[in-house]
Amino acid sequence: MTDQPELTVVIPAFNEEANLRPMFDRLVAVLEPEVDGLEIIFIDDGSSDGTWSGISDLAAIDDRVRGVRFARNFGHQAAVTAGVDVARGRAVVLIDADLQDPPEIIPEMINKWRDGFEVVFAQREGREGETLFKKATAALFYRLLHRVTEVDIPVDTGDFRLMGPRALEAFRALPERNRFIRGLVSWIGFPQTAVRYRREARHAGDTKYPFRKMLRFALDALTSFSFLPLRVATFLGFAASAFSFLYILVVLVLKAVGISWLGYTSLMASILFLGGVQLIMIGVLGEYIARIFDEVKRRPLYLVGDSTDGTVQVVPPDRPNL
Ligand code: UDP
Ligand code: MG
Repeated sequence: MTDQPELTVVIPAFNEEANLRPMFDRLVAVLEPEVDGLEIIFIDDGSSDGTWSGISDLAAIDDRVRGVRFARNFGHQAAVTAGVDVARGRAVVLIDADLQDPPEIIPEMINKWRDGFEVVFAQREGREGETLFKKATAALFYRLLHRVTEVDIPVDTGDFRLMGPRALEAFRALPERNRFIRGLVSWIGFPQTAVRYRREARHAGDTKYPFRKMLRFALDALTSFSFLPLRVATFLGFAASAFSFLYILVVLVLKAVGISWLGYTSLMASILFLGGVQLIMIGVLGEYIARIFDEVKRRPLYLVGDSTDGTVQVVPPDRPNL
């Protein structure tokens, strides 16, 4: 027997001090009888409350708990990546710190993994305690994404999922910085399956995803998994050219027969319309170029300020250059 734990639970936490202890208690209660060796990793994503001291306290009383503290807030997806990077377990479960995703369904995920599935994602059947706006935008976003992406990203799934050893190896090798994790995990393939659950209300605190972060997240998802926005630009270009060609013919014919009543109004309308469309399409190009720039800089995805066992390096090892 090696001392490799069977399961690592990775929990990104950004100002979640009031959720740490309940999370830990519920995880241990559910998983202790289920798995052969457990590891719990909290990633403190630059919190400004007592999250880090809470994590340190848990690590001090229970050596299954490890904590990593970022040098600043690098974002949810970076925190999850760091957790996967340092996890020692054979399988890894990703779960949010706020107990919206009930740890009680993890045993069901483990059973599916033992049955041979490499990725088991949790699919929401409903959400509680979230605003109508959040529910509506989320529903729209997942359906749009499902339609426009080449990989089959299942609807209504978050990052709450289990990954087996082969999926972890593949995931750790992915080099990109703009990480839309649920998309990447779908992209790697392997046998994948779902377990269904109801998303609960947050245990304590407020959402750490204000509208601004949600929008950025949605743009990352679209641009990393779809060229549709670029194709729309090409299509609009062709449509506008075809229309202008016909319109020019009409204007010329009218001119030839001596009618030229078209003037200021139509001129302004077409200039303003085309100007607007062009600016939007330059913006679309810009979204892709900004991400290319971000990738080629090859800055590390996160920096580690501290870790409870002192083993985690400040700069994460470079991902293989594929
Ligand atoms: N989170 C993080 N860094 C951030 C924002 C969020 O690590 O910059 C964590 C947060 O602590 C939580 C998870 O990501 O564990 C999901 O965030 P949240 O619950 O606020 O998102 P929501 O469920 O409202 O979409
Ligand atoms: Mg949440």
